[in-house]
Amino acid sequence: MSETEKAIREIRINPIVPSESVLIATARSMRPRKEEAPAPRDTRQHVETCPFCRGNEDKTPPELRRYEVAGEWAVRIVENLYPVLGDDRDKSGLVFGLQQAIDGYGRHEVIVDHYTHGIAVHEMAEEHLTTLFQAYQSRAAELYALDERLKYILIFKNFGPAAGASMAHTHSQLIALPVVPQNLQEELEHSRDHYKKHHHCIFCTLIDEALTFETTIYDRDSGKIVRRINVGQYVVERGERFIAIKPFASRYEWEIHILPLEHNSDFLETSAEDMADLARVLKRTMARLDAVIGGAQYNYFLHSRPSSDDYSDCRGSYHWHLEICPRTSVPSGFELGSGLFVNTISPEEAAEQLRTVELD
Ligand SMILES: [Zn+2]
Ligand SMILES: [Zn+2]
Ligand SMILES: [Zn+2]
Repeated sequence: MSETEKAIREIRINPIVPSESVLIATARSMRPRKEEAPAPRDTRQHVETCPFCRGNEDKTPPELRRYEVAGEWAVRIVENLYPVLGDDRDKSGLVFGLQQAIDGYGRHEVIVDHYTHGIAVHEMAEEHLTTLFQAYQSRAAELYALDERLKYILIFKNFGPAAGASMAHTHSQLIALPVVPQNLQEELEHSRDHYKKHHHCIFCTLIDEALTFETTIYDRDSGKIVRRINVGQYVVERGERFIAIKPFASRYEWEIHILPLEHNSDFLETSAEDMADLARVLKRTMARLDAVIGGAQYNYFLHSRPSSDDYSDCRGSYHWHLEICPRTSVPSGFELGSGLFVNTISPEEAAEQLRTVELD
């Protein structure tokens, strides 16, 4: 926090999902969480014993797909040795009293993001990141087409032990679920309600505000400036087709969302040219994060309109996005007990730090 900035202590409501709120408390004494110690990054190029390194293809579980560049694999998808969901059982419907369960039917796959062992996203070539996101896209489309019991395909990445990565070699995961997860369901429903009332996609409105809106709030009696709001201050990176934004109600100190500038509800409908710009915006955004917090441990995940016809009415109201959530602290009992996230760096300040990084 800069010396001149006044400490902020306010509860901010997530504009997309109003039931989610964040306590922004920038005074040092408000820090309720233990800082996550940065873990030393494994930067080795190649590890003889690592099943995900190039040359060790026979050591992985069965390969499902491979995506090649210049005759060699760039990205591979393999089965997960310890799947959280499987498609090996028939549906069971055992329900007792209030205990309801949905059978853990689904798929769990590992995406080897790159053949280089310890490479970080900001170090990958843009062309490679394009291939990676195209791999996400084509595999998700294949699985949706394969089995209509798969209601949502969640693609995510854990990077670093604090973010839950069990393998040091850079990888993502794909989990095909028999239900649409609750947080996505809420985004879909709230944005649909907003659309019904305002005939406008709420995500597009947030992007428009981020790019243009500026205002000054004066005190009614004294006429003094109470606050200057410049929503443009939330922009972290802007490409031709994508934008990286620091959400106004960020749950995590360094959380960033990347969205297509032009309205699109479905990641599966993203064109090859779009992917190239996404790769560029993601690479630059991750480079900014790395410069500011060094060796970021993070999760990122894709939120997109589910493929089933049940959600075709969300075509105009939903807007797909990538949420990047760096893990710099451990959640406290207060957060788990209240459901209120505490963020100790104001999103305005965090965005400014990220934006002012000089990139090549
Ligand atoms: Zn490796
Ligand atoms: Zn939109
Ligand atoms: Zn989302």
